[in-house]
Amino acid sequence: MLIYGKEIRDRLKEEIRQEAMKNTMSMVIVRVGDDPSSLSYVRGISKFAEETGVKAEILNLPEDASENEVIKCIRKLNNDTGLTGIMLQTPLPKHLDANRLVNLIDYNKDVEGIHNYNLGKLISKEEGVKPATPKAVISMLKAYDIALEGKKVTIIGRSMTVGSPLAVMMTGENCTVTLCHSKTRDLQKEALNADILVAAIGKQEFVTPDMVNEDTVIIDVGINFDAQGKMFGDVHSEASAKARMASAVPGGVGMITVAELFDNLRVLSRNQARF
Ligand code: NAP
Repeated sequence: MLIYGKEIRDRLKEEIRQEAMKNTMSMVIVRVGDDPSSLSYVRGISKFAEETGVKAEILNLPEDASENEVIKCIRKLNNDTGLTGIMLQTPLPKHLDANRLVNLIDYNKDVEGIHNYNLGKLISKEEGVKPATPKAVISMLKAYDIALEGKKVTIIGRSMTVGSPLAVMMTGENCTVTLCHSKTRDLQKEALNADILVAAIGKQEFVTPDMVNEDTVIIDVGINFDAQGKMFGDVHSEASAKARMASAVPGGVGMITVAELFDNLRVLSRNQARF
C-alpha cells in the first residue's frame, strides 16, 4: 500500500495560516549562485509562504560571491530584529564552506534546525527546531498509526540533514536504530532486519525487492530525476509493492518537508516572542 503526505501537509498548512494571522512571521532564503537542484525546493517554500500569509524573501547572491560577502549578508540578517528565520540554501558553490556558514546564522533564527547549537539540543532531547525532513518522516509514520516504540529501524544514508538527525530522533521515539552508509558491509541483511526501512541515499531505485519483506514499512526520502525529468525515489516500485506500506514518490515525504520547515518557523517565532 502506498502512503501519501498531502493530508499531513494540508493540516500543518492550516495551522500555520491561523498562526500567521495572529503573529507576523518572516524568513529569508539566501541563495548563492543558481544551482538548479535546489530550485524546486525554493519554489515550494515561496508557494507555501504565499498560501499561509508568511513573508518569505529570496536573497540571491552571485555564484562567485566571496565567503566574506556571504558572512556580511548573514550578519545583516542576524541583526534584523523583524526577521524570524534564515535559511542558507545548499548546495553552495564549491569555494564556500556550508557548515561554517550555517553556524554563523543566529541559532535563534535557524529555521532548518541544523546549527550545531540546535543539533546539540536535539541530542540532549530539549525542545526546539529540528531538521525538517526527519520531522516529515516521523510525522508520516505517526499519521499512519505506525507504532514506533521498540521497532527496528534501518536508515540508509547518514547525511547531516536527513539520516543522522533522523537516527537521533527515531532513538528518541524508542526505536532501535541501525544507521547504514556506503561502507556498510551487508546492506541487504540490515535492510531485511528492519520493521521500518528509511531510504535516504540519493540513488534512483536503489532499494530492490530482495531488500524488503512483506512486513516492512518503507519511507522513501529520495528525490531523483531521470534524463526526461521524471521523478523517482530511492526505492524500486517492486520493492514498494512487496512491502506492507511504502511512501509514494512523488507525493510522500517531500510533500511534508516544506510544511515542517514552516512549523520550525512557528517554533522560532514563539521563542522569540518570549524575549
Ligand atoms: P547525501 O548527503 O548525498 O547522503 C547520501 C547518503 O547515502 C550518504 O550517507 C552515503 O553514504 C549514503 N550512500 C550513498 N551510496 C550508498 C550505498 N551504495 N550504500 C549505502 N549508502 C550509500 O544525501 P541527502 O542530502 O541525505 O539526500 C538523500 C536523498 O534524499 C536525495 O535523493 C535527496 O534529494 C533526498 N531529499 C529529499 C528530501 C525530501 O523532502 N523528500 C529532503 C532532503 C533530501 P556515505 O556517508 O558513506 O557517503
